[in-house]
Amino acid sequence: MRIIVLGPPGAGKGTQAKLLAEKYGLEHISTGDMLREEVKRGSKLGNIAKEYMDQGLLVPDNVIVEMIAERLGEGSMGKGFILDGFPRTLSQAKALEDVLGGMADIDMVIYIDVDDDVVVRRLGGRRSCPKCGAVYHIVNNPPKNDEICDKCGHPLIIRDDDREDVIRKRLDEYRKRTSPLIDYYMKRGKLVRVDGNKDIYCVFSEICIHMDKFFKSSAMEGKE
Ligand code: ADP
Ligand code: ADP
Ligand code: ZN
Repeated sequence: MRIIVLGPPGAGKGTQAKLLAEKYGLEHISTGDMLREEVKRGSKLGNIAKEYMDQGLLVPDNVIVEMIAERLGEGSMGKGFILDGFPRTLSQAKALEDVLGGMADIDMVIYIDVDDDVVVRRLGGRRSCPKCGAVYHIVNNPPKNDEICDKCGHPLIIRDDDREDVIRKRLDEYRKRTSPLIDYYMKRGKLVRVDGNKDIYCVFSEICIHMDKFFKSSAMEGKE
């Protein structure tokens, strides 16, 4: 099973991708997490990426495509994967098809649709664990102990790009460069839209309904 999770910054892509990966035994591949890892390591790729990320701009396509092609080439995907935050431009979408060998290899694109004001509130309250990557929200999904990660006990941080001016720029980039992918995947019959304004478990159960429908229909096809 190969899934793409699409939506604006703060839609809940990472939150849902983690829950899905756990439930369905899929590999969670987040380009944002991979880039932050490179930044932390101070690699050449990380240094290039940081310039863009800090300004709320998308990292150039060639850099991202090379990184993801390498990751997908590693194999060990088990039952499949969930791409979170990739593709983010039409050119990345086309490059992905080249890497995978065609659109038929993408099973479903889950579009998490969220209102702008909700997105701004979510990003404003997001807290992240720099050690294990867990994500919280100060109001919607708080850690048990103030500002400390439930999973690993590390102090939580506010991401450098979750500041108001950078958030605005990221939303601009999303509208201009990423939102055309909604239409792109819709025309190819891959898109399922879920209402991302609801709480985390409502959104998750809506996505699971689509997942289960997919498994049922592929099992039926298998019988023919
Ligand atoms: P994305 O990966 O799309 O940027 P995240 O999964 O990091 O989004 O979520 C952004 C913030 O919103 C986090 O603080 C997260 O805890 C919170 N959040 C995610 N989904 C929901 C939801 N359905 N309702 C309320 N808050 C949410
Ligand atoms: P969010 O979904 O909250 O915007 P991500 O963690 O997915 O956050 O991405 C953080 C930043 O990493 C983006 O603003 C962008 O600079 C960079 N980035 C992540 N994925 C991509 C991608 N596929 N193409 C270009 N830039 C990316
Ligand atoms: Zn942690």
